[in-house]
Amino acid sequence: MLTHAQMNIAPSSSFFSSAAGGDSAAAFFGTKNCFTGGLTVAPLDPHTLNEIESYVAPIYRLADSDPSDALAPATLSLKLLGTRPKMVPLVSQGTIALVKGQWRIYIRSGTPWPRARWIAGHELAHWWFKRIGYTGPDLEARCDAPGAALIVPRPVLVQVHSKPGDDVRAIADELKTTQSLALLRVSEVTGRPGAVLRRAGPIVRGEPCGHLPLEYGKRVLHPSVKRVPITDEEQRTGVVAA
Ligand SMILES: [Zn+2]
Repeated sequence: MLTHAQMNIAPSSSFFSSAAGGDSAAAFFGTKNCFTGGLTVAPLDPHTLNEIESYVAPIYRLADSDPSDALAPATLSLKLLGTRPKMVPLVSQGTIALVKGQWRIYIRSGTPWPRARWIAGHELAHWWFKRIGYTGPDLEARCDAPGAALIVPRPVLVQVHSKPGDDVRAIADELKTTQSLALLRVSEVTGRPGAVLRRAGPIVRGEPCGHLPLEYGKRVLHPSVKRVPITDEEQRTGVVAA
């Protein structure tokens, strides 16, 4: 049984290792009036994000662990599913499938390891939502959030963020994750508006600020917006409230 996207599973190599993907530049934070871009993705509302955050502790408990000691996604997978993620040729970035009665996570071969870690978290979220019976239309967006929260639990982010400050690259390196995930996770945990602008549309986190001005993003500068270069994935730009 397949729970995610169309894919060709051709079991091959073993586990693991990854980074993030998309586009553009400035947002208009620090005001109640935000631009509305054309190619935007509605952000998850704060209530939903809080709800998702509340899943982290019970999932870690199921793995006999505590969120203050972040587990590698491969370890989480082993403890929760009984299997480690596998790198295989896939059409999609990743998937979780029930194979001979056992859930298995598959990740596309060649995925850089920081991104592979997040994809494993995303697929574990699919397993969790299936377990609690959630099948809403926003399932994919919902799986992105716990995918990040599972591999960078709140107490871990707080601890790391208190050291490198706003240096997204340093935070990402320390957390062994992508710069996009680091930026968005800081915004989730601190509330400071932040976004990753990509070709597929922005991902927005933090205090409510509406959508981002994709059409103007590369041209508009505003004192309330600070650009954050994202160097580990192509065609992405980070922005945070200055
Ligand atoms: Zn998915």
